[in-house]
Amino acid sequence: MYLSSISLPCPGLFYSTSARDGTLFRIRIPGGIVTTGQFRMVADLAEKFGAGYVNITNRANLQIREVRTQITSEVLHLLQNIGLASPIPGVDHLRNIMGSPTAGIDSEELIDTRSLIRKLDYYISNHTDLAPLSPKFSIAVDGGGALKVCDRPNDIILTAVELGTQIYFHLKLNLGESFTNTGILLQIQECVDVVGAIAKVYLQHSTLEKENITPYRKSRKVRLFEVLHYLGIERFLQEVESHFSYPLRRLPHLPTISPPHPHLTRYLHLGVHPQRQQELSYIGVVLPLGKLETWQMHGLADIAQGYGSGTLRLTPWQNLLLTDIPNQYIHEVKSKIENLNLHWSATKIYSALIACAGSTGCVSSATDTKNHALKLAEYLDQRVTLNQPVNIHFTGCPKSCAQHNNSDITLLGVSEDKYQVYVGDSDHESKFGRLLYQDVPFAQLPPLIEKILQVYITKRRTRHESLGEFANRHSIAELQRMVEGDGEV
Ligand code: SF4
Repeated sequence: MYLSSISLPCPGLFYSTSARDGTLFRIRIPGGIVTTGQFRMVADLAEKFGAGYVNITNRANLQIREVRTQITSEVLHLLQNIGLASPIPGVDHLRNIMGSPTAGIDSEELIDTRSLIRKLDYYISNHTDLAPLSPKFSIAVDGGGALKVCDRPNDIILTAVELGTQIYFHLKLNLGESFTNTGILLQIQECVDVVGAIAKVYLQHSTLEKENITPYRKSRKVRLFEVLHYLGIERFLQEVESHFSYPLRRLPHLPTISPPHPHLTRYLHLGVHPQRQQELSYIGVVLPLGKLETWQMHGLADIAQGYGSGTLRLTPWQNLLLTDIPNQYIHEVKSKIENLNLHWSATKIYSALIACAGSTGCVSSATDTKNHALKLAEYLDQRVTLNQPVNIHFTGCPKSCAQHNNSDITLLGVSEDKYQVYVGDSDHESKFGRLLYQDVPFAQLPPLIEKILQVYITKRRTRHESLGEFANRHSIAELQRMVEGDGEV
């Protein structure tokens, strides 16, 4: 008996998705925490059924790509038994619960979210009635620590806040283009029930009133934010509240929780960091474009088993943490990471390089983003030394799947081999930043980006100014003059 292959827009384990390079399977990893045994099992699967590598996604899932043979039901049962597949196949496509990868080891966090994430995952994985929900239904739980996930795109966001001597979770809901602060504060033991009630209200309206909510594309599943717009926030929350015999605690004037600076959060976890546990540290390991070959997976599992506590933590920034390493072994572990052709520095070009699937994996892509990104990084790595990360984002079309927030440099594929080059913050004309150059053939891109980086390094105000901030201070004409070398600005 073989796994049925049902094509869905978001791939789950039981529902494969066809991509240009073969079939794609996604394995949900709640909170991104995986044991070495589970990690090795996925490596073996990627070796046997895929092309010998996995991708870490921007939801801290694992993806096996280029699957060209069918995965048997025995393998799926095995994955269910070791907690890597939902016991109910009908809900395995729902999105992974996102949590901070440093939960329980971050000395700044207000609360360890790991047990809550496990409970939420258990709830979702065991409720068949949730199967009709959109595969994009997503939840994030943020414990209020240094490494935040509360700014990541999710339908429901629970963020720990401290009020007096109590820790609550503040409920935020995604409205599509923005988030609504509901003012609702939940104690940790209330969160699963409230998320369950939200899912039920969402389900009820998305199935009963689908025609009214998405009349333009009947085949698509209704998103939570569409139900929120259709009903209005207050009516939606009242319906959620009707599932309880008591009113939900609300504090309308909750102090604003400022979103973390994406530039900081994205790289904060790389390198060596002390844990809240005395004498232990974690190491954030860079995975170029989120890709790991199976031999590297086994090598990382060996390190986690030999020096840590036998778990690995995947991050929504497509990297990985090795945790609970006694400080006296850090040096040794670093050299073992290097032996795997990996590193931990946030200032290498590869560390802040992002690319979507590109033309090898996605029909919408104008360019081979992944290969171009790796070629660019290889070129720059030899020539440019950075002292802080520069985020370079390749995207094959304007949908921008791989990165939702601004980058320092965005390269948008426009025809087979050409890119638009954007820098800094978005303006009214483009969400990618300001257009610096257009229709640049890939062959000319590496020397052009090298020049942009050199101009930035020599002319920035301080060593802490990011490339995006530097670009924002100048007009496009000034930037072009500096890059082309005929003007001192
Ligand atoms: S950004 Fe566009 S080209 Fe890239 S993976 Fe998404 S849909 Fe495909």
